[in-house]
Amino acid sequence: MLRVKEALDRIIKRTRVLGTQKLPLEEALGHVLAENIPSPFPLPMYDQAAMDGYAVGSHGYEFTLLEGEIKAGDHPVESPIMPGEAIRIYTGAPVPPGTYAVIPQEYTQEIGGRLRSSKVIKDGENIRRKGEEVKEGQRVLKVGDFITPPVVGLLAALGREKVRVYKKPKMAVITTGSELVGPTPSPPPGKVIDSNMYQITAALRAWGLEVVYSKRVEDDREALKEAVSEALEVAHIVITSGGVSVGRYDLITSVAEDLGIREVFWKVAQKPGKPLFFGIKGRKLIFGLPGNPVSASVCLYIYVKTAVRKMMGVKRSILEDFVYALLSKTLNKKGKRLEFVRGHLFYTEDRKYLPIVRPIQKRASHMLTSLKDANALIILPEDRGYFEHCQDVKVIPLRWFDLFE
Ligand code: AMP
Ligand code: MG
Repeated sequence: MLRVKEALDRIIKRTRVLGTQKLPLEEALGHVLAENIPSPFPLPMYDQAAMDGYAVGSHGYEFTLLEGEIKAGDHPVESPIMPGEAIRIYTGAPVPPGTYAVIPQEYTQEIGGRLRSSKVIKDGENIRRKGEEVKEGQRVLKVGDFITPPVVGLLAALGREKVRVYKKPKMAVITTGSELVGPTPSPPPGKVIDSNMYQITAALRAWGLEVVYSKRVEDDREALKEAVSEALEVAHIVITSGGVSVGRYDLITSVAEDLGIREVFWKVAQKPGKPLFFGIKGRKLIFGLPGNPVSASVCLYIYVKTAVRKMMGVKRSILEDFVYALLSKTLNKKGKRLEFVRGHLFYTEDRKYLPIVRPIQKRASHMLTSLKDANALIILPEDRGYFEHCQDVKVIPLRWFDLFE
């Protein structure tokens, strides 16, 4: 059976990066940059005071105080300050030509028309130099950078009103199963509430993605075919849940075949989520997630998130997002599948050492309560069966609100 790493490699290889678009700065948050950004000017743009105090024309302890003051926002003065002179200045204001340093006001005293200073001041002290942070033309941001709030601020500081970013994929969610009903306090006998529709949609929204199509369908071949083809019309990535195993009513793979969707893989050597299906049609992707809510959630996190990142210009599998943690108790597993064990990751009080991860008792894949308590997935690799108390293991923190680390 296909190994997890190989399945992820295939997803990254087959997923095409979506196009780019120019967005107003206000809408760029959460996207990935699709252009390099050189600075059109030096930062700071001019020599400026870093403190409230006095610009002085030379080293010294007593100065002739010039009339007036220079505030932030004032037009730079052209007449230079001479040795022995001082002028009142405020943080961010342009210093006059010839400024030796800025003496912070707490070291000074104004007496008549003179200024006394108690501070040994060095050349250039408390002056922010033009271009000391960024030189004119220097590349400040590059293709592939994730646009966080500070990046939005930086783009603004670099004078950008618009910025070129990678498009985000539009998503479709289809849940399948004749047993499924919408949330209700009294589900009819034999029915199951469709939790996957809600948790999958919620995760996609938390990652900043738009769900453009959602439908719950019965285990009926024609109905499923219709839903998947409608979804393929409008979405870049179609996610289905359920119906992907080998039962008589598991219709995803045959419907995919009918619709000309090319199977890239079906079944992965993992637990939970063994029956996972991944197919492509043109540039569109189809993920057939298993119906068990924990399997669906884990596969969504590991595989769909990886594909979304790639479409948005970042080639980074979720398996690379691991941290090491110390296992709080011995774990065993049977078989040759990689196991994602739900875990609770935490630090000891002093936060000095590796974090600890406590496996959550319930390991069955239908128990969503266990996933609620988890904030990480412990990776138990394919070819080992015994994991000892206190040994370090790889853990993937579950970041439900971040697409990128
Ligand atoms: P399946 O993958 O279709 O064989 O479903 C496996 C198990 O998950 C069955 O017990 C289903 O009832 C359950 N299940 C399937 N889809 C959902 C869903 N959308 N929400 C909650 N449970 C589901
Ligand atoms: Mg089913």
